[in-house]
Amino acid sequence: MTPEDILHTYWGYRHFRPLQREVIQSVLDGHDTLALFPTGGGKSICYQVPALAREGLALVISPLIALMNDQVMQLKRRGIKAEAVHSGMHYTDIERIFDNCIYGDVKLLYISPERLQTELARVRIGKMKVSTLAVDEAHCISQWGYDFRPPYLEIGSFRDKVLPKVPILALTATATSQVVQDICEKLHFGPTHRIFRKSFARPNLSYSVLYEEHKLSKLLHILKKVPGSSVVYVRSRRQTQVVAQWLRQRGIQADWYHAGLAYALRQQRQTAWIKGHTRVMVATNAFGMGIDKPDVRTVIHIDLPDSLEAYFQEAGRAGRDGKKAWAVLLYHPSDRKRLMHQLQISWPELRYIKRIYHALGNYLGIPVGSGALQTFDFDLQAFCKNFQLDLLPTYHALKVLEQEGWIATTESVYLPATIKVLVAREQLYDYMLRHPKLERVLSALLRLVQGVHRDYTHLHEQKLAHFLGIERSQLQEALKLLHKHQIVDYRPQKEAPQLIWLHERIEARNLTIDTSRYRTLKTQHKQRVIAALRYASLPECRSRQLLRYFGEMQAEVCGKCDVCVGRNRVALSSEELQRLTQKIQGLFGHEPRLHIHDVLESFKPKQHAQVLHAISYMIDEGLLLKEEDLLALPPQKQSS
Ligand code: ADP
Ligand code: MG
Repeated sequence: MTPEDILHTYWGYRHFRPLQREVIQSVLDGHDTLALFPTGGGKSICYQVPALAREGLALVISPLIALMNDQVMQLKRRGIKAEAVHSGMHYTDIERIFDNCIYGDVKLLYISPERLQTELARVRIGKMKVSTLAVDEAHCISQWGYDFRPPYLEIGSFRDKVLPKVPILALTATATSQVVQDICEKLHFGPTHRIFRKSFARPNLSYSVLYEEHKLSKLLHILKKVPGSSVVYVRSRRQTQVVAQWLRQRGIQADWYHAGLAYALRQQRQTAWIKGHTRVMVATNAFGMGIDKPDVRTVIHIDLPDSLEAYFQEAGRAGRDGKKAWAVLLYHPSDRKRLMHQLQISWPELRYIKRIYHALGNYLGIPVGSGALQTFDFDLQAFCKNFQLDLLPTYHALKVLEQEGWIATTESVYLPATIKVLVAREQLYDYMLRHPKLERVLSALLRLVQGVHRDYTHLHEQKLAHFLGIERSQLQEALKLLHKHQIVDYRPQKEAPQLIWLHERIEARNLTIDTSRYRTLKTQHKQRVIAALRYASLPECRSRQLLRYFGEMQAEVCGKCDVCVGRNRVALSSEELQRLTQKIQGLFGHEPRLHIHDVLESFKPKQHAQVLHAISYMIDEGLLLKEEDLLALPPQKQSS
């Protein structure tokens, strides 16, 4: 079948989108390929179609378990055989899936990057017929990127050793030119590699930054003015609830979402929002990844994220349907302090990192000299409570350990309860006779759960408990007892973030970090924060600022962001403009350079829009120079 036939047969789509076909051809021709498409641009098709066009399977590396499971589910629904292997899964399940991939006709195998490092994976994948190696979210390989994940660094040598002839397709939605270069290098791209870049411009999306002291009332105002589906991003889990309830009290249909909610509840709320039963979702950045809702009209950020990469991704969830949509950032100059503080605590001292490493090893019960590649359920809050540690600094110390490659963490993994009967029928009846109390549970299990005698089978506990007329907890107790008696192997449902201990535990005092890299990462982080602050404060076309940040230097002004529109709208008489210009020039008295915030802080908040307008005018007229987020007078003025 041709790629067109495949697209039509399995997806029902008539045409490829721009560049999809080119990327697919490049992969089919055996070139290492990098596809830079914005979120929602249709990257998945670029490896899914070649997987079906070729013999064998495509191995897909993906960092987020939720995304991975979601894709597998969607592919299965289209009649395509797909599987996923990730941390937190039971060993026997992983073995079974690997076997299916070697001997069966699985077309796509998703795997999380830290799983690649296991001996089991190396040996088994070596036996598979792999046609393509797809690396999703490829920016995770770069320490210049905003989401560096060290296990990604192993992919290059994994390919060299295990799949030397297989072409790589790397995909990402966020890559500055530095990151692009890094991706090609670290994945050991061959000399004939190809790069395809789709413009990140979003012509139907209007970006705005609004200077607001009273962010909530502005939020309400926007939601009342612009009808339709909306996401409101806030920075803490607690805030999601507070803001959603505040909106509800004012007649806006809102709900909240964050990674701390139970899996079932998250699913339920997400579905309600996708279907349009809930209008506004107030969420942390855990929401939205992989969700494909076309008719989102507004994405509103109450707090500035700490990178433009994150902002662009989140804001870009508005207007996928191509109709007019708005991305609004509510900003107040005091946000700067918060981000700077956050930056400060993100980089703890080595002494503290050692302490956390030590505590963590003890907490997980890992003896010095062992523990490599073991996976644990990990609850950060419980860990902190146990050792009386502060949540945030501990979180950041763990992030450093992760960046240094000592551990890997994942978001929570949901695994349904599974069960298998371990003994033959005769033994089972014998057991039932001796344990009459468990007889009902066992016979219901055999009757209602198909295949439980042959293999591990998903167990719908609620349904079974209902059938038996008992509480779910009673059922679980009974199953645990049966497990203890080795009649069944019962794996309770599980829903916890995973922590993978990557190397043998060492004495904490011997723990080292690569200090020069540590400093680089810190500097990078700082530069990203500054770029985000600059975006919020500089009166320059928002769309152009974003596109330039991602390397599209030729980007045109958009004509519909607050700056572009504001140029025509902030009515300032020429006298007022002159007065403001003089006052701004006056601020430079003894300071050669001023931060844009310092300028703003010399005026009342309600004047800020006008001041920004004046600054923008002064820059255009050459009365003021702009350098990152600093402003300066031109040299000739300074010397006079
Ligand atoms: P990305 O990974 O780039 O963010 P996805 O691969 O998740 O984007 O695709 C986004 C949506 O676009 C999906 O619903 C997908 O089915 C759809 N899509 C992709 N390619 C096409 C196409 N050629 N025609 C129509 N819809 C497409
Ligand atoms: Mg994707």
